Amino acid sequence: MAYDFDLYVIGAGSGGVRAARFAAGFGAKVAVAESRYLGGTCVNVGCVPKKLLVYGAHFAEDFEQASGFGWSLDEAQFDWATLIANKDREINRLNGIYRNLLVNSGVTLHEGHAKIVDPHQVEINGERFTARNILIATGGWPQIPEIPGHEHAISSNQAFFLKELPKRVLVVGGGYIAVEFAGIFHGLGAQTSLLYRGELFLRGFDGSVRKHLQEELTKRGMNLQFNADIERIDKQADGSLKVTLKDGRQLETDCVFYATGRRPMLDNLGLENTGVKLDKKGFVEVDELYQTAEPSILALGDVIGRVQLTPVALAEGMAVARRLFKPEQYRAVDYKMIPTAVFSLPNIGTVGLTEEEAREAGHDVQIFESRFRPMKLTLTECQERTLMKLVVDAKTDKVLGCHMVGPEAGEIVQGLAIALKAGATKRDFDETIGVHPTAAEEFVTMRTPVAG
Ligand code: FAD
Ligand code: NDP
Repeated sequence: MAYDFDLYVIGAGSGGVRAARFAAGFGAKVAVAESRYLGGTCVNVGCVPKKLLVYGAHFAEDFEQASGFGWSLDEAQFDWATLIANKDREINRLNGIYRNLLVNSGVTLHEGHAKIVDPHQVEINGERFTARNILIATGGWPQIPEIPGHEHAISSNQAFFLKELPKRVLVVGGGYIAVEFAGIFHGLGAQTSLLYRGELFLRGFDGSVRKHLQEELTKRGMNLQFNADIERIDKQADGSLKVTLKDGRQLETDCVFYATGRRPMLDNLGLENTGVKLDKKGFVEVDELYQTAEPSILALGDVIGRVQLTPVALAEGMAVARRLFKPEQYRAVDYKMIPTAVFSLPNIGTVGLTEEEAREAGHDVQIFESRFRPMKLTLTECQERTLMKLVVDAKTDKVLGCHMVGPEAGEIVQGLAIALKAGATKRDFDETIGVHPTAAEEFVTMRTPVAG
């Protein structure tokens, strides 16, 4: 049977665009449907605008520290509306770039909500198109628990478009988004509290990293409340919000920001017209080749709920395009050693195993750790400290994990990820000449293990 398209991609986000462009580059006839915004979550309400706001928030510290270097500034003023308008302009520019990337690579762009009507057919804007393969790349959506008054809370989707910076913000959650946005609000001058239901935030990250960030955020005056959860939210006559916690305490705030994870975006996608199966958490179930239970339908990125990061969605997009249209170049995505950063202030950068994971996996673990005051701060009053940590297998000398909390941790860990992927040993680290004077050189000068 002749199909309209070889591949019909639903969702022009990180993974969908990558798969569509490369498939078209390999000679396939490709269409991509997008219902909201070109570039998806990352470009519009994720990585990119988030990082711009983090840069904005960081200026607060820069101004404070400048006096130590002889600069005097009148009292710095911040205007939220300017930051948001400039951010929106930049995102518009990126949307245009994504449009050009798709069109110039020969992909047909359909703007609207796509629904699968049968395993080889998609309906969009009242038209139907057939395809040999359909790729679900519809990403995720913020998930807010349905407590009484949850309609008064916002998620990251709204936070990027607030008309003004709230005076007081209560951030709920202890993952990437909660920690990053707490840093943004706090840095920009809002009175910020972070509420997390467990003992210590950032579950899954190295224990020293979690503790160190807790200390640093506390030093900066952020109000961290662990073992705390919200029971209900009530709007008061003056517009402020009264928040009642499960332990009975009451707090008052102007904004409750929920960052409690993301669900797969499957709304009105028509999966009931296919044999696609979902896993226990409701994400689309795929095998190692991104194949769903329906032979003609594939899925990747956040909607499969493996690792919700843009570079992972990109790698999966590439793998799918190659698998379908350039099988001789197919290489499986390696889910080990994925480096990642949390753009909290200070940043976290991490790659490889945490100390806890290494011990659990039965490694004979050696730990190297360094804590120091960054050189840039020595002429300032700021008491921030940087943490660097190496997790090493004592038997093989292989470096199993690198972890950092401090300025530019994300930038530093990218290079270390290459070393770890190549199987670097602690001896390789020791024999690498440092770049002086940098913070990064500490990673090649730690000599004495702190724990075995
Ligand atoms: P998406 O990028 O979400 O794209 C899915 C697209 O599908 C969307 O554009 C959507 O509109 C469209 N769509 C959905 N349903 C339909 C339909 N039926 N028809 C047509 N179109 C449809 N990752 C990082 O690596 N680094 C970061 O710093 C980072 N920061 C983040 C900050 C925030 C606040 C958030 C929310 C996420 C962040 N992420 C970050 C995660 C990253 O954004 C995602 O992992 C990535 O965007 C996933 O790509 P995707 O292609 O799976 O889905
Ligand atoms: P995460 O899964 O990272 O964190 C969710 C947090 O919310 C956890 O602390 C979790 O607690 C808590 N939580 C979950 N359900 C509830 C509930 N019902 N009540 C109270 N707390 C709850 O999700 P995020 O929303 O922060 O981010 C989604 C994903 O997006 C991230 O996992 C990451 O993959 C990606 N991302 C990446 C970024 C980056 O690369 N810098 C930045 C932002 C997002 P517990 O730990 O106890 O389960």
